[in-house]
Amino acid sequence: MTNVTRDFFIGLSNSKFLNAQAKKWGFVLGADKFVAGTTIQSVVDAVKEQNAKGISCTLDNLGEFVSDKGEANQAKEQILAILDTINKQNLDCHLSVKLTQLGLDIDQDYCIANMKDILDTAKQYSIFVNIDMEDYSHYEATLDVLNELREHYDNVGTVIQSYLYRAEEDLSRLKDMRIRLVKGAYKESEEVAFSDKQDIDRNFIKLAKQRLLGNTFTSIATHDHHIINELKAFVDENAIGTDKFEFQMLYGFRNDMQDKLAENGYNFCTYIPFGDDWFGYFMRRLAERPQNMNLIMKDALYTEDNRLKKGPVIAGTAIAAATALTLWRRKK
Ligand SMILES: Cc1cc2nc3c(=O)[nH]c(=O)nc-3n(C[C@H](O)[C@H](O)[C@H](O)COP(=O)(O)OP(=O)(O)OC[C@H]3O[C@@H](n4cnc5c(N)ncnc54)[C@H](O)[C@@H]3O)c2cc1C
Repeated sequence: MTNVTRDFFIGLSNSKFLNAQAKKWGFVLGADKFVAGTTIQSVVDAVKEQNAKGISCTLDNLGEFVSDKGEANQAKEQILAILDTINKQNLDCHLSVKLTQLGLDIDQDYCIANMKDILDTAKQYSIFVNIDMEDYSHYEATLDVLNELREHYDNVGTVIQSYLYRAEEDLSRLKDMRIRLVKGAYKESEEVAFSDKQDIDRNFIKLAKQRLLGNTFTSIATHDHHIINELKAFVDENAIGTDKFEFQMLYGFRNDMQDKLAENGYNFCTYIPFGDDWFGYFMRRLAERPQNMNLIMKDALYTEDNRLKKGPVIAGTAIAAATALTLWRRKK
């Protein structure tokens, strides 16, 4: 995929206007293929379906870049309700959170206080909470918050992105903590991150192997079968127990492969996002894989029985696309 296409979708993912509009639209553009629902109830079914196949889940109550305390409080309350639901329904499931949803951009201490409320409840239910890693402008602050939290809690972890030059150094500092390893989803400058896919992949494999040889649990989060196959072989060669790691993939991606890995005895965890704040998440998925556009076009233009949609739907989609394009051009 060209960088232009990637930059285009990343640009859209950051548009506050479109994110706000999308909450009013509900799921359009095929977002329901990658986002499990808008309410806690709707997502429980998706978790149960995965659990029945021996797959655990991590739930992400979608939302990011919150600049208002009311909204951050609301997000925290929603997350506490999710923890109650996981506990009451005995789901095999942990939590993924974004610190900018919990007030990182408002005030770091306020964000820490919100996280402590969440971790207290999670600890009571023995639920692990993973802090997603966002763009590099939030990186240091995220690690600061994490360092404060890890002094009091052992049920918290975070994500390391292999596109960052400093990933190896940070990973070695976090060698005793449960970590999710990813390639990285944001557009970062060449001053801090590899831009070449081969470099990112090579670093991912190197870091994954280092973690697998260490003592702490690692979530290997990728849809890349080349990497998964190489790591499976590495695990076999080094007689590494399957209890030391899990594979993770996003909801709606490579479902057959998710099932197969679980059937073959690997720990597997599906990352399930839900909620009406779906736009930024969805645009980042388009940035990663242009083939996902096929789903959008099919969803926007055709009915379920493959007939061409008419009138307002096409108009709405065209307007949304034109607005998005205009905003993106204006931003450049
Ligand atoms: C569970 C999970 C959690 C994540 N959390 C974060 C986070 O906190 N912070 C962050 O920055 N990023 C996060 N990401 C996103 C991550 O950083 C990458 O942007 C994203 O996973 C794309 O990289 P990839 O390794 O999956 O494969 P890619 O590099 O996108 O693809 C590599 C190859 O895999 C194959 N492939 C990939 N997808 C498919 C598909 N759907 N169907 C068929 N073949 C396919 C293709 O051959 C492709 O060329 C997360 C990803 C996952 C899976």
